[in-house]
Amino acid sequence: MLRSLLEIMDRYPDLPREVILKESILLNGLSFSDSALQASYQEKAYYLFTFDPDDPEHVKGRGRVVPQEVRISGGPLGLRATVIQSRHSSRSPFRVDLEENLKLFVDGQPIADVEFVPRPSYYGQALRDGIRVEEVAPAIYWGETADVTAYRICEYWNVNQQCKFCDINENFRSWGHLRKGLGAVVPRELVADAVEVASRDPGVRRYLITGGTIRDGLKEAEFYLQYVKEVEERVSSLPARLNTQALRVEVLPRFYEAGVDYYHPNLEVWDEKLFALISPGKNLNIGRDEWIRRTVEAVKVFGVGNVSPNFVAGIEMAYSPDFPHGFRKVEEAVKSTASGIEFLMSRDVTPKFDTWGLEPRSWFGIHGVSLPPLEYYLELYRAYRDLRRKYGMPWPRGLGEAGPGVSRVPASGFMDVEF
Ligand code: SF4
Repeated sequence: MLRSLLEIMDRYPDLPREVILKESILLNGLSFSDSALQASYQEKAYYLFTFDPDDPEHVKGRGRVVPQEVRISGGPLGLRATVIQSRHSSRSPFRVDLEENLKLFVDGQPIADVEFVPRPSYYGQALRDGIRVEEVAPAIYWGETADVTAYRICEYWNVNQQCKFCDINENFRSWGHLRKGLGAVVPRELVADAVEVASRDPGVRRYLITGGTIRDGLKEAEFYLQYVKEVEERVSSLPARLNTQALRVEVLPRFYEAGVDYYHPNLEVWDEKLFALISPGKNLNIGRDEWIRRTVEAVKVFGVGNVSPNFVAGIEMAYSPDFPHGFRKVEEAVKSTASGIEFLMSRDVTPKFDTWGLEPRSWFGIHGVSLPPLEYYLELYRAYRDLRRKYGMPWPRGLGEAGPGVSRVPASGFMDVEF
């Protein structure tokens, strides 16, 4: 593995080595020694999806929840500090172990120093009913974003139309015990309490409201709007990010007026046929063309740089006998997604990515699809970099600063590529 990584670094001299290592870790996951997990850190929240290549029952057997994020730096490659989401995989070639200090090993060789994300200062405070603030608004982005999963399941699962990469309902089933007093719907007043507490931490720069889908679009809009309103009545100074489906254009000004700064109508995958196959609920309920139209229209409400639909980078290469539809060649996959990035950037939308993590209880996990090679991500980020320059687009504004050694985006290296 190490030789292959070094060889790829030689082949992509225009991309930071940190990006290459980060993407490989996100794809393969991380294993943690028991001694590494003795350290003090912020435990992973399991707030939305598991993001783990290992089955939840196996991960729960570790005795201690793994860190939310790790930061690698130094080592023989002189790496700049790079934040990476923890994805537990006992089979990963990447292992974090304690050897004087925490280190990252590949093929048994140390290649970087490791820090675990520290527990934010706002953690531990009790809200009403004995619920602690981190059960409602855990931190991500190395403490910069207070993350609220308001609706912890998704209605598309009820009708077998869930996105094939997604394990939200299985995450709730497996890890719901981390928030004992909370059901699938987190009470709005608790959310407002939690964000208010988090906002007093100087490290917290924004909050995010996210969650599963309510199939009735009007009900979904009203549901999430009420959260934003309740929070903003108490904490109007903290910028707000919102993850929902592509909402009807006419309701968007209400979200803007309520206080939403950054909007993420997540399209997931660009290719038309794959969108219908991978996100059947979104396709049947709203439709791809309408989703894209609403996304482009949203820029008029929120402004350039503030509308950033997510792509689960790599799902367009999902392939197995049960799903013989994904692109087989990196060039074809990147060409497809880059054409979508160009379409959106040419209309002032700033797309973003999460690197796909193949969760065993997602449809794709159950049906044994294969992951893309590392090169797919490197080619995709090259294309994104070039298109961003071509259209003079800013980075997605809700994700903090960009650049190698600077970005705190945990689940993708696309903002670690350049400043
Ligand atoms: S819309 Fe798709 S990705 Fe989002 S929670 Fe539902 S199934 Fe998961």
